[in-house]
Amino acid sequence: MARKHRVFATCDIGDSIDLLRKRGYDVEVYASPEPPPKSLIVSKLKSGIDGLITTLRDQVDAELFEAGKGTLKVVAQYAVGFDNINRADANRYRIPFTNTADVLTEATAEFAFFMMGALARRLWSAEHLTRESKWGFWHPYLPFLGDEVTGKAIAVIGTGRIGLAMIKKSTGFDMNILCYDPAYQNHEYVKAIQEIKDLRFARGMTREHCWIRYTSLDEALSAADFVSVHVPLLREGESQTPTFHLFNESTLRKMKPTAYLVNTSRGPVIDEAALAKALREKWIAGAALDVYETEPLPADSPLRDPAIEDRCRLYPHFASAAKITRLSTDPEKGMAGRCVQGLIDVLEGNYGGNITQMPYVVNKEAFAK
Ligand code: NAD
Repeated sequence: MARKHRVFATCDIGDSIDLLRKRGYDVEVYASPEPPPKSLIVSKLKSGIDGLITTLRDQVDAELFEAGKGTLKVVAQYAVGFDNINRADANRYRIPFTNTADVLTEATAEFAFFMMGALARRLWSAEHLTRESKWGFWHPYLPFLGDEVTGKAIAVIGTGRIGLAMIKKSTGFDMNILCYDPAYQNHEYVKAIQEIKDLRFARGMTREHCWIRYTSLDEALSAADFVSVHVPLLREGESQTPTFHLFNESTLRKMKPTAYLVNTSRGPVIDEAALAKALREKWIAGAALDVYETEPLPADSPLRDPAIEDRCRLYPHFASAAKITRLSTDPEKGMAGRCVQGLIDVLEGNYGGNITQMPYVVNKEAFAK
């Protein structure tokens, strides 16, 4: 009888684990909510694991691939971003790794949109007024006002899957849209969005005739009322256009003093010390963040400064945190389902065993003939 596939999951991903067990897999799940120490993952790999299920909390590099040498066949990452996986090391050891792109696109984009609205319309401060009984009387402008989102200009930085979904959502709010992406430009999508905007105007649904176009980063930053970031984390040497600290003192100063920054991508895309300074000195109006340079956000982070509290919304890497998106066992709907399907494809040799044909494998280049 063929040996059972042995899998170690660094985190519980719900019912999809049972799905593997029903197929006869021997699956061990690290049960604690915190990430396991790297030494534990190393020891599991040395014991002869075939498949490793990881999250963005695990550092996957040569040390792990070396420990799994001879037995490890696949790393299945429960996320679309894979900046925690050293792609060059994976390729050197010829280990395919998979991700869960697409199934979290709409959930992440809608969360970015809601963060933007919560920030601009001051939902947090408004609720505090009510809860702390500081409401006072209804008044035309006291104690504060927010900024509308409808009809404003948004810069979408990175027009991949989530950026395009953010564009689609912004279109429903009649926003003018500035797109920036040095590596991938979807002109067909932008044309279709313009057609929707044309129709909304022609049918009298909006008084302004709204527009969308690709532009330079400088123009996007200087013209937008909202800047929403949807790039992968790419460090120096990983890309012609790295995104590490893409938002720094220089780029933040290009934004309007009335503009808001929204980040659901990865923390290190923003230099947090520079952002805290920008907020304190009011170079920009506010920021809403879901991701941080260090997670969880340290107690002494400058972003926690009470002086900027009303202009800085902080969320716990939560953008994909919706039930179906996170836990559905259906690979077309849930990260969990897609994660285990990526693992199954490799371990069971689907697609004739041709890794370059497997839809969820990221580093196909290592297996091209
Ligand atoms: P994607 O690969 O489809 O899109 C990323 C886009 O960014 C690509 O089009 C790429 O060309 C572009 N890009 C690369 N370098 C750039 C640069 N210097 N400037 C501007 N654009 C650049 O990825 P996606 O599925 O849209 O996901 C984007 C990222 O969002 C992920 O890599 C992940 O880090 C993050 N994410 C976060 C959460 C969350 O919970 N907060 C959830 C999902 C994804």
